[in-house]
Amino acid sequence: MADDCLFCKIVAGDIPCEEVYSDDDVFAFRDINPAAPTHILVIPKKHLASVAAATPADEALMGKILLKANEIGQAEDLHSSGFRYVINTGKDGGQTVDHLHLHILGGRGLFWPPG
Ligand code: AMP
Ligand code: ZN
Repeated sequence: MADDCLFCKIVAGDIPCEEVYSDDDVFAFRDINPAAPTHILVIPKKHLASVAAATPADEALMGKILLKANEIGQAEDLHSSGFRYVINTGKDGGQTVDHLHLHILGGRGLFWPPG
């Protein structure tokens, strides 16, 4: 848990969220400002500032985040129509919360390239 980290506070239950999934390592919840009909954030429970901060010790955790995102997307019925994963990183990447999060976006056609 990092001090003053919004997503650590959500994991701890100090800030409410619409939870989608939780286990020992991974947590998922609906984005408060959805950019698509389905917009879910999948995060590690432990604080990692960004995907760029991951180390070889996080190899299994990174894989788990992706595979849990797949399970969540299937439960949300996104796999037949398609979906997008996004991990914004750093200033130019548009990262606004410094706790690694994978966006699951789906439920409409998404534009490419992103802005
Ligand atoms: P990013 O710009 O990639 O760092 O994404 C941060 C995301 O967190 C944005 O899509 C926000 O809408 C979302 N967000 C911020 N605060 C909350 C919150 N309290 N509950 C759920 N999602 C949030
Ligand atoms: Zn955190």
